[in-house]
Amino acid sequence: MDRKLTSVNANGRNYNIPARPVVVVCVDGCEPDYITQAIEAGMAPYMKRMLEKGTSLVGDCVVPSFTNPNNLSIVTGAPPSVHGICGNYFLDPATGKEVMMNDAAYLRAGTILAALSDAGLKVAVVTAKDKLRSLLGHGMTGICFSAEKADKATLMDGGIEGVPALVGKPVPSVYSADLSEFVFAAGVKLLETERPDVMYLSTTDYVQHKCAPGTDGANDFYAMMDDYLAQLDMLGAVIALTADHGMSPKTDAAGNPRIVFLQEVLDTLAGAGEGRVILPITDPYVVHHGALGSFATVYLKDTASAPAITAQLRAIDGIETVLTRGEAAQRFELPPDRIGDLVVISDHLTVLGTRASEHDLSGLTVPLRSHGGLSEQKVPLLFNCRLQNLPEGRRWRNFDIFDLALNHARVTTS
Ligand SMILES: [Zn+2]
Repeated sequence: MDRKLTSVNANGRNYNIPARPVVVVCVDGCEPDYITQAIEAGMAPYMKRMLEKGTSLVGDCVVPSFTNPNNLSIVTGAPPSVHGICGNYFLDPATGKEVMMNDAAYLRAGTILAALSDAGLKVAVVTAKDKLRSLLGHGMTGICFSAEKADKATLMDGGIEGVPALVGKPVPSVYSADLSEFVFAAGVKLLETERPDVMYLSTTDYVQHKCAPGTDGANDFYAMMDDYLAQLDMLGAVIALTADHGMSPKTDAAGNPRIVFLQEVLDTLAGAGEGRVILPITDPYVVHHGALGSFATVYLKDTASAPAITAQLRAIDGIETVLTRGEAAQRFELPPDRIGDLVVISDHLTVLGTRASEHDLSGLTVPLRSHGGLSEQKVPLLFNCRLQNLPEGRRWRNFDIFDLALNHARVTTS
């Protein structure tokens, strides 16, 4: 690389070239309490050390508190108004069709990872689910593969081959804790063999959807993670950990899901065919949450009806906030052309569906836990080193993680 270069720029922010490998970890669905409980149970000794010797902040993720908008915010260092990805789906106004936003064609900004690789740094990305791979790896040279399709990675498309043999594990099931373990195991192997300058590891929230903080299932997962983080530390990495979003129980005391079927409500309020509800959480992997989250967007045929419908929706038990497109775009920094006329957010214990008949809940073998709303906005920002020169009184975002790791980590002591 060009040794004269000391920093790169992405989306208006500068990022220093690191002297030591930096590993940014996005733990999917990591409500801060998962870490607290695992440490309390004595199952995460390394993370306990991070709290004592490093830095722990709490920040806000992007709303909708979903996986893709937040992963893209983290790797661009910018909100969805800049990068364009505000969910898995949006309604294309030109065709009236629901369009999946998993394709890099919908990305409106370059990533920090691409800027670093352009500058000649060695960059590696490992994601659990394949749906994020092309978005995270967009414009980047280096290593980029998913655990889900680890055996399909090639030198041409992924910058690496023979991943299962390197990691020493078979390709895991997409619905398993093993999928995330594979990400960490691959991260450790990559740091040992390839020693990337910057690495981004992104897991899946399979465990967090099923297990509350402090339960055996959750603590086992964090113990697994803790062991790999300790190995990354031993290999000399600066570790910066955050989450794409938190996770909440979405049930009553009996464990039954609390659901507002918004399309049914809208049909009653405005008349059938007058409004269309889009749930941007919908994706090809819905077994563990039944496509139920706390964020929905509504497209109205007659936007003049918006104020009346907004008032009526706000009165419904379980609905926390209803905003117009303009209000939502401003408050949550969303691209106005990719959200509907209204944005509806349900509360801590409630999710939003379309119609009862459109959600298959047979895969929910445990009480529903999900995300998407304001109640899942708090996420941890955890570092294995002290941070320096931090501005006072700032509201931290999960998409500040690269800035904090590359520009503020004090790496002289370990
Ligand atoms: Zn997620």
